[in-house]
Amino acid sequence: FSSEKYGVKRKSFGVLQPRDIDYFKSILGEDRVVTDESDVLPFNIDWIKNCRGQSKVVLKPKTTEEVSKILSYCNGKRLAVCPQGGNTGLVGGSVPVFDEIVLNFNLMNKIISLDEISGALVCESGCVLENLDDYVRERNLIMPLDLGAKGSCHIGGNVSTNAGGLRLLRYGNLHGSVLGLEAVKADGTVLDCLRTLKKDNTGYHLKHLFIGSEGTLGVVTKVAIHCPALPKAVSLGFFGVENFENILNLYKRAKTSLGEILSAFEMADNGSVSSTVKNLKLSNPISDYPFYVLVETHGSDETHDSEKLSRFLSEGMESGVIVDGTVTSEPAKMKTIWNIRESIAGAGLVEGYSFKYDVSIPLRNYYDLVELLRDRLKDHQAKVYGYGHVGDGNIHINVIVPEYTKNMYSMLEPYIFEEVAKLKGSISAEHGVGFRKPQFIHYSKDESALQLMKDLKKSMDPNGILNPYKVLPD
Ligand code: FAD
Repeated sequence: FSSEKYGVKRKSFGVLQPRDIDYFKSILGEDRVVTDESDVLPFNIDWIKNCRGQSKVVLKPKTTEEVSKILSYCNGKRLAVCPQGGNTGLVGGSVPVFDEIVLNFNLMNKIISLDEISGALVCESGCVLENLDDYVRERNLIMPLDLGAKGSCHIGGNVSTNAGGLRLLRYGNLHGSVLGLEAVKADGTVLDCLRTLKKDNTGYHLKHLFIGSEGTLGVVTKVAIHCPALPKAVSLGFFGVENFENILNLYKRAKTSLGEILSAFEMADNGSVSSTVKNLKLSNPISDYPFYVLVETHGSDETHDSEKLSRFLSEGMESGVIVDGTVTSEPAKMKTIWNIRESIAGAGLVEGYSFKYDVSIPLRNYYDLVELLRDRLKDHQAKVYGYGHVGDGNIHINVIVPEYTKNMYSMLEPYIFEEVAKLKGSISAEHGVGFRKPQFIHYSKDESALQLMKDLKKSMDPNGILNPYKVLPD
């Protein structure tokens, strides 16, 4: 259990009683109150199987009114609640720590409206990102975010974590694309900020309180989000590069040569790609290189865009910055290449236990931490891989070991966060703080900012029932 593994003490919340279950059944019906131990188990374990809670019940509301009734009741009884979307979070925020009630949004999955002219999509928070993307693509739009977990993660989870992903470089982050939202406060009050306007400066922008607050300030029930136009032409380049310096050089060139059509600039080191290809039996379209770069363009003219990307490749090869590469506009080939990149996050789980880090570091020092860690762990059985969203200064580091040990944990933490702080980076670029990082948040937030976070929490959730043990340090 997470509580034993990380030495956390249960706070003095109420303990679930049979009469509470009866109440939940009276509003949701028998089927949507899950209490069977084996049925509850998957909702207690996170995606990387690092955190495990001890919840006894999963509630599956279908409407905002049901969510409101549940929270109002739980607040009155001081019963703690863990909001859960697709449970793909990587920092243990989506699963309970002790016996918190799991409030799962799987059944709040209706699309409410789409304005095809403005691109404003309104939907419930439990809609799976990929389903939304399929829906809007049929109407010549795309979702403004894309991530490897798209087949399971919910839009409500994305908003609550302020998920970044593969195309943030082009379409910006959710603080820009989310037009409005509906949320339920801890006491059951429904907050209607579900506007679809691009501009609305009528006082405080309250939606931002819920974007990235990981279910600690309220529960997101509906989202209005701006969907950009479906690009008529998409091209993808996959390049082999000799050293990290050349990746930076290439990124600078990409910004000027590809300009407005650049939609993604991703990197992965040899270990990330070769282990993914090997573990998942994929095939790498180019040979073995120390680093790989994936460059994608979204534009409106296929001939023009792929010519631009091919020219980028040949100029890169002439100058020696790119050693080898391939450019394609064929959907099947692009999917194969993206699949390698998107599978890196999970491929290490095949080999053993994966310690995962997601940090922002100024680009000059982007890869330094991987090298520092390799050196630090050279006498241990550990593989250190680095990959990520270069365009956003965000690197993911996987440390793969045969199994989790306390010794390895103490070799890594807080060392990694200290190094990130020295470089003036962020200890969590896009995955959030969750359960795993509150004790390290001070490396990236100063005391006054932390105090304001605590004040907001106190004001919005005075009994602290929403996602306790997460985000805020004690
Ligand atoms: P969950 O994991 O269920 O929950 C995440 C947090 O949000 C929890 O704290 C939970 O309490 C809270 N929450 C969920 N729903 C609600 C709600 N309706 N109201 C209030 N709080 C809620 N993340 C990125 O940012 N970029 C990436 O590129 C990326 N790639 C990934 C690739 C893989 C293979 C995997 C497994 C994960 C990846 N992630 C990435 C992490 C994860 O997918 C994102 O954090 C995602 O936004 C989580 O959505 P979810 O619905 O699964 O939320």
